[in-house]
Amino acid sequence: MKPKPHQKFVAGNWKMHTDAARARLLAKSVVDEMSMEQYVRVALFPPFPYLVSVGEILKGSHVALGAQNLYPERQGAFTVEVSPTMLLELGCKYVILGHSERRQKLDESDAFINRKVRIALAMGLHVILCIGETLEQREAGETKGILDQQLNEGVKGVTAETLPRLGIAYEPVWAIGAAGHHATPEQAEESHGLIRQHFAKIFDEESARSLVIQYGGSVKPANAASLLGRPGIDGVLVGGASLDADQFISIIQAAFERTKPIWVEAA
Ligand code: PEP
Repeated sequence: MKPKPHQKFVAGNWKMHTDAARARLLAKSVVDEMSMEQYVRVALFPPFPYLVSVGEILKGSHVALGAQNLYPERQGAFTVEVSPTMLLELGCKYVILGHSERRQKLDESDAFINRKVRIALAMGLHVILCIGETLEQREAGETKGILDQQLNEGVKGVTAETLPRLGIAYEPVWAIGAAGHHATPEQAEESHGLIRQHFAKIFDEESARSLVIQYGGSVKPANAASLLGRPGIDGVLVGGASLDADQFISIIQAAFERTKPIWVEAA
């Protein structure tokens, strides 16, 4: 049997949106409307209070559960915080770390993010590590330097055996939540190339080749296919459009369309 081709990875980050009823409805709509599950990897990241109810809906489906953050300790006196152990117990497979909203609005440092990345991977979670430049940094020609730095710091101390569970999301800060300001497919492809090259320097060529790099920043049904069609764009991390089941399903469909020929050939 031929090896299975790469699945595109579509992740929906609900941020601090929805309410209890809407979260359940949205998860149910995604599960019910998915028809290409074996071809596309899909995960939903609801707010912490809805992890249990959304997890119940996703159980037994092809849609995985993820969390938007964690605290880098197994347990202890850390009021409000949520540990990787707790996330695993709730059935989370993934965790998003280093999101620019947390870097900027909550002052999370590269060093703190790195502690989270290491403990998450060590405990068996799959990590989506978000990195990306601001508009100012892009205009000053600093994109490569920023990506290199966030990558160097973010993956410091990550062990080779946990690398298959580490993915990167390239999320240019200027493109997040900015209607009409997503990166062009060319810009995204170029940055993904820089990230992959640098990853190869930190680890090795083989790990860089198999690294899953998602693009995030105003992905919508209208631009998903062109982004997902570029070499090196292995998936998308979707914010706003993941709050609408129809839009999110269209993006999953676009991911499927982009890999259909290789799937058909491999069958
Ligand atoms: C995000 O928050 O990760 C994101 C990409 O948001 P949006 O799709 O709304 O730009």
